[in-house]
Amino acid sequence: MSEELDPFSIAQEQLDTAAQVMGLDEQAHAILREPMQTVQANIPVRMRDGKVRAFTGFRVLYNSARGPGKGGIRFHPQESLSTVKALAAWMTWKTALANIPLGGAKGGVICDTKSMDGSELESLSRSYIRSMGRFVGVDLDVPAPDVYTTPQIMAWMMDEHSKLVGSNDDFGMITGKPLEVWGSEGRFDATAQGGMDVLREAANYYKMSIKGSRIAIQGFGNAGSYAFELAQKLGAKVVAISDSRGGVYDPNGLDFARLKETKEKTGSVANYSGGEKITNEKLLELDADVLIPAALENQITGSNADRIKARLVLELANGPVTPEADSILLERGIPDLPDFLVNSGGVVVSYFEWVQNKAGYYWTQDEVYSRLSSIMSKSFADVVSTQLKYANSGKKISPRTAAYVIAVGRVAAAMKARGWY
Ligand code: GLU
Repeated sequence: MSEELDPFSIAQEQLDTAAQVMGLDEQAHAILREPMQTVQANIPVRMRDGKVRAFTGFRVLYNSARGPGKGGIRFHPQESLSTVKALAAWMTWKTALANIPLGGAKGGVICDTKSMDGSELESLSRSYIRSMGRFVGVDLDVPAPDVYTTPQIMAWMMDEHSKLVGSNDDFGMITGKPLEVWGSEGRFDATAQGGMDVLREAANYYKMSIKGSRIAIQGFGNAGSYAFELAQKLGAKVVAISDSRGGVYDPNGLDFARLKETKEKTGSVANYSGGEKITNEKLLELDADVLIPAALENQITGSNADRIKARLVLELANGPVTPEADSILLERGIPDLPDFLVNSGGVVVSYFEWVQNKAGYYWTQDEVYSRLSSIMSKSFADVVSTQLKYANSGKKISPRTAAYVIAVGRVAAAMKARGWY
């Protein structure tokens, strides 16, 4: 039988596994298997040829028991209701594991940003907010950037929303904004910073040295490119990198500045001169110490998990490893640290941005990074201690299931306290 690759079915399967391990109340389980609210909109945008085109957009509020919804908006040609529902579920577990007072949500638009110009993107962003205006807001559901959405897009969305609600203090309705309109210091590379905090903790725990270690990164977007730069600063050697058009491998290490320039000039890191051209699939199977999937879902599956050679997998993307691959890696003794732990730095600093916007009082970058680092270390410690607790009673569970047990436990407890079941 071929493996289930539908993202939302995967998210439900992961929840079911955790529910069984932790003996979750049946009613709580039933509530948590589906989103609380799903909005789909048909979004009209006038394109540069003068014609109006309708885009399909989504916003899913998965769970708000612990606070307003939180989660990014993706602009992607392969977006679907299933991906948005899965990502919204993962946001719920992400905010709960980080123990920040927010719930989980996600948005998306089916579109190809590469074929759109700036004014089309601005119109789409504003039109998205006009369609979703009643469902988002500082105390309702707070969006943020994700795949192919930027701080500029957040600023347009905030501007549109502030007109809609008639407020000049509506900054906290969205995070990941540019600093000029009260984004947070440190938000731009927060996902990668948080990932590196986890890497530091993990290296310590699994007794690996980061200095001199070989890292392969799949993806050169916000998360992947900053992870590259930060890993190098920690003394690691990034030996492989890729983007949607392909990748490059050099066992002696790649040069960040040259790679960035190649990407800017040619549109893809695959055109880097020197090193060996590789595919995205091959990159995953390289002989490296740490593998960082930082692109899209379903990259490590039942069909390639037995060929992964890395000693540690750090999921910086959302949903890169399927449940079947999760079990294979567990059996093979390769720790695979889950997305909603590893990449939670983005939402943690988004939370800081929201707090600063609500207070109207701003922190320094050092304050942001040091608070972020404490949260990341605590989340990592919680995950490994939960895994150990189960191991001591004879149950071998993956780091992902351990993280689920903590997160689901917290959301279920909040629902119970509110009288939802
Ligand atoms: N899009 C990021 C994520 O998947 C950040 C979400 C946020 O900042 O709300 O975690």
